Amino acid sequence: MASKGRIVIDSERCKGCELCASVCPHHSIHMAETFNAKGYRPAVWVDTDEQCTGCATCAVICPDAAIKVYRQVALRAVPSGV
Ligand code: SF4
Ligand code: SF4
Repeated sequence: MASKGRIVIDSERCKGCELCASVCPHHSIHMAETFNAKGYRPAVWVDTDEQCTGCATCAVICPDAAIKVYRQVALRAVPSGV
């Protein structure tokens, strides 16, 4: 089963550099049409087809540490009687 991911972007930390959008393998990050308080168009997570795997590439490349990544981990059942 492919892992599922979710990210949260702090739009007020974002400087709109577009690096995260350029590296996401699933094109799950777009740039907003509106501006944040600093006057930048922040990144927005758009994952309508649920392609985000939580790979964290976007968070690693972000120079402003504006992205938090959450990954769903599948748990295996523990056999009874162990
Ligand atoms: S965690 Fe990976 S798949 Fe998800 S938005 Fe970031 S770069 Fe894209
Ligand atoms: S890499 Fe970081 S600062 Fe650049 S657009 Fe993405 S969230 Fe904003």
